Amino acid sequence: MSKLWKTVKVAKIIEETYDTKTFILTDNEGNKLFKEYKAGQYINFRKEVNGVFESRSYTLSSAPSEDFVSVTIKKQAKENGFSFSSFMVDEVKENDLLTVFFKPVGDFYYNPEKHKKEIFLFSGGSGVTPCFSMLKEMSDRLGENNYPNKIHFVVNYKSYNDIIFKEQLNKFKNIYNINMEIILSFDQKDGYGSGLFSQESLILKLEPFKKDCSFFTCGPKGLMNMFVDSLKKLGVEDEHILLEQFS
Ligand SMILES: Cc1cc2nc3c(=O)[nH]c(=O)nc-3n(C[C@H](O)[C@H](O)[C@H](O)COP(=O)(O)OP(=O)(O)OC[C@H]3O[C@@H](n4cnc5c(N)ncnc54)[C@H](O)[C@@H]3O)c2cc1C
Repeated sequence: MSKLWKTVKVAKIIEETYDTKTFILTDNEGNKLFKEYKAGQYINFRKEVNGVFESRSYTLSSAPSEDFVSVTIKKQAKENGFSFSSFMVDEVKENDLLTVFFKPVGDFYYNPEKHKKEIFLFSGGSGVTPCFSMLKEMSDRLGENNYPNKIHFVVNYKSYNDIIFKEQLNKFKNIYNINMEIILSFDQKDGYGSGLFSQESLILKLEPFKKDCSFFTCGPKGLMNMFVDSLKKLGVEDEHILLEQFS
């Protein structure tokens, strides 16, 4: 195998929801996989299927300061053809070996030299992964040099059963300078927001933050487009709008 790709071991699998699992990955000897990466970056997996190399990207759902490296994968329904997400969620077991690119990549991360001290993380579904990594990485260090001093975290899921990282996200609800909002688009539950955003309601929501925040978004295309359009209508400059497109 070329030096650009390495074999990794699935050390542990955690069921997050009915269709989403977290995979803790180590090197062959069981050590932490990557010494350095930025919260929000992703890795590429490669798998040979019928003589063809299939490649898919997955954000690291762990935070760099944690002592493990993980990805969190939501199974995408697909009628035919190879689905890497189905392979991972349905077939992969603990101790299996996988192939990944030798280092994490991507530019969806907080850059203290460019971004504001207040950040707004807006995600939907499996798009929560890079925002969750950033949240974990920054929550203990808010206000320190090179870290934001305030985080607004808004995540949208279809229903209560679709909430990825439910217990962990709820722990951030009462932390000073973190505003955590979990919204269920088609469901109602105490302690959670409910309903779908329209362009108008999103503009109203974002208006108070337009001058103070850098904005990060990852999720379904329609939701991200609406988010970006809203920010542009509010006059937010491009350098303070960061997108991670999953498809
Ligand atoms: C930078 C980046 C980071 C990402 N991070 C994550 C992450 O953290 N977690 C995560 O779950 N995903 C993530 N993704 C998405 C991931 O890479 C895959 O695209 C996703 O898992 C679907 O892969 P798949 O092989 O199952 O389906 P694909 O073959 O890639 O198909 C994706 C979708 O396209 C449609 N489709 C494509 N071909 C067909 C077909 N022949 N017939 C019918 N429908 C079809 C289906 O709706 C299907 O669900 C990320 C993507 C990028 C680019």
